[in-house]
Amino acid sequence: MSIPVQNARQCLIWDHEHETMPRPNLEKLQLERLQKTVERCYTKVPLYKEKMDALGVKPDDINRLKDVNKLPFTTKNDLRDNYPFKMFAEPLDKVVRLHASSGTTGKPVVVGYTVNDINTWAELMARVYTSGGVTNVDIVHNSYGYGLFTGGMGAHYGAERVGAVVIPVSGGLSKRQVMLWQDFGATVLMSTPSYALVLAEQAKEMGVNPLRDLKLKVGFFGAEPWTMEMKREIEAKLNLEAFDIYGLTEMMGPGVSSECPYHDGLHIAEDHFLVETVDPDTGESLPLGQLGEMVLTSLTKEAFPVLRYRTRDRTIIDTEVCSCGRTTARMKRITGRTDDMLIIRGVNVFPSQIESVILTIKGLEPQYVIVVDRGSNYMDDLEVLVECTEKLHAQGDEALEKVKERLGADLHQVLGINARIKVVAPKTLERSEGKAKRVVDLRDFNN
Ligand code: ADP
Ligand code: ZN
Repeated sequence: MSIPVQNARQCLIWDHEHETMPRPNLEKLQLERLQKTVERCYTKVPLYKEKMDALGVKPDDINRLKDVNKLPFTTKNDLRDNYPFKMFAEPLDKVVRLHASSGTTGKPVVVGYTVNDINTWAELMARVYTSGGVTNVDIVHNSYGYGLFTGGMGAHYGAERVGAVVIPVSGGLSKRQVMLWQDFGATVLMSTPSYALVLAEQAKEMGVNPLRDLKLKVGFFGAEPWTMEMKREIEAKLNLEAFDIYGLTEMMGPGVSSECPYHDGLHIAEDHFLVETVDPDTGESLPLGQLGEMVLTSLTKEAFPVLRYRTRDRTIIDTEVCSCGRTTARMKRITGRTDDMLIIRGVNVFPSQIESVILTIKGLEPQYVIVVDRGSNYMDDLEVLVECTEKLHAQGDEALEKVKERLGADLHQVLGINARIKVVAPKTLERSEGKAKRVVDLRDFNN
């Protein structure tokens, strides 16, 4: 199939067959895959059998794509309650990899992959790279974290799939990262948007001029919300073209959707994920094109199939064919979440996690405010203000300092990130008459 590129820009496409499939053919493929997935879930995952039986739905009831809304939703809590492996549709001897996403108090969500799942993931990340013009001549500097987090390995396998050289740097040691950019001549940067800005600042401090000293051409940034303003800043400071990439551990990791060179929404890999939007309060299906909570159903996953996952991410879906030639639907940049989860320096943080840590420390009251800001150094800053008891207050500074240190250490243990702590005097934080406002997020993701 030829690519109907109207603009002068040449768009590379990795998987022509699937990325430019006429919609009727795509929907036919989606239905076949949906039916298989539902059968797999019903017969292999006890929770899905239970949920479907409760709704009186059988796999045979799925005869059209629209029937997806007969199926039960899956929430993060369902996945957590079935920790670690009870949602797996394959025995562990067929599973070759585990990843996990940070979760609330204690247990994370654990996901598993078969050989085929890993292969699909690499293919989908290869689509992402290719849509940004990356080929086997490129050198990919991967600053996404390696480990249980899906970012590092997802970006890694995709880069290998297109035949590029991949440098598995992971996050941290910013000075060394800039040195490696120069020495290895990286052309592609993979990192969270906030870390890209940290690296840009570091480069500036080291007297490195991107125009003169670096070969960076493109970067794929995601795993956290970011603004158009941030995008322009990254592009200007690093002299590269920035692409937005979206993913979530529960569905696979990065590679669920990404921008093409037209930068008009993120193309969803619809042959692998069925997308819906619902009203976040009622769960009612909304017509595509209307702002709502995105709900995803996996269509090809073997080890960890997911029916109607409530992403809690707010977006609009556009099914118009894009100028790049891809027929896959596009989601608009994510502007917010429908739950209270905060993403701080790429780490998922629920206010309830902070609250439960506070509750375990003697001398502290459950009166607290969480303030998140993105400072001039572009790193998210987490501050926790918490009231102490009258008794602790009377004991003086040394006792207060001890409690402060303990809270800092315990929070770091649970969240994996540092927080600034302020222990304040009893009854100094504002009381609300209705729902307490515990979180003040000064970052603005809506432009
Ligand atoms: P990941 O490994 O991608 O960080 P998590 O499961 O930890 O996976 O977090 C997924 C969440 O991160 C998404 O539900 C969404 O809220 C957020 N996210 C990921 N990519 C983006 C993006 N490009 N823009 C905005 N938010 C994003
Ligand atoms: Zn496009």
